[in-house]
Amino acid sequence: MNTEKLEFNPYKILEVKGRKYLYMIENSGIFEIDPNLDFFLSMDNAENIPCTSDSVSLSVKEQAQFIKDMKAADIVKSNDSTRSINPVEDSSDINLNGITLMVSQMCNLRCRYCYGEAGEFNHTPGRMSKTIGLAAVDFLLKNSNSSSVLISFMGGEPLLNLDLIKSIVSYCKSKTDRKFFFFCDNKWNAVEPGDIAVLIG
Ligand code: SF4
Repeated sequence: MNTEKLEFNPYKILEVKGRKYLYMIENSGIFEIDPNLDFFLSMDNAENIPCTSDSVSLSVKEQAQFIKDMKAADIVKSNDSTRSINPVEDSSDINLNGITLMVSQMCNLRCRYCYGEAGEFNHTPGRMSKTIGLAAVDFLLKNSNSSSVLISFMGGEPLLNLDLIKSIVSYCKSKTDRKFFFFCDNKWNAVEPGDIAVLIG
């Protein structure tokens, strides 16, 4: 018996022409679901995984390797600290032309095909803070030799965090040594008449 508890990262199961696929929400990985993967999905959050089952054809050794492979592919959560994302500290060889800021996971639409569950991503939708947003602009400017840079606002629906967008645009305007271009991936259904001036101004 495998006493390890498996915990899958957020996912959706998609069915296309009779075949089932596992779509990993956080990294956009797609894997076809075979009987072995199907078995492990049924064990999500189970305390104990049986070594043998009618629905899985793996030996104990193969099962351990399968779990290892799922961790390597970020399908299953791993305690391996070497896989955590470290901040960029030595950025001397980076020259950025722009950044994309996911300012709001929240969305006021509910598209049937939405991989992010309208921003919920299997947890509470997040919104970028002003501290993080302005720090991101500072990071861009510190790591860019370009005279003009692009800042893209994405979501969910980015306009659900319009106050942050206003703060970032205002902050950029105070940096007079650069020319800024802005892009906003809004769906126009969260726009108030007064917001349009912010977006085109
Ligand atoms: S607009 Fe995008 S984020 Fe919003 S529900 Fe549709 S697909 Fe999801």
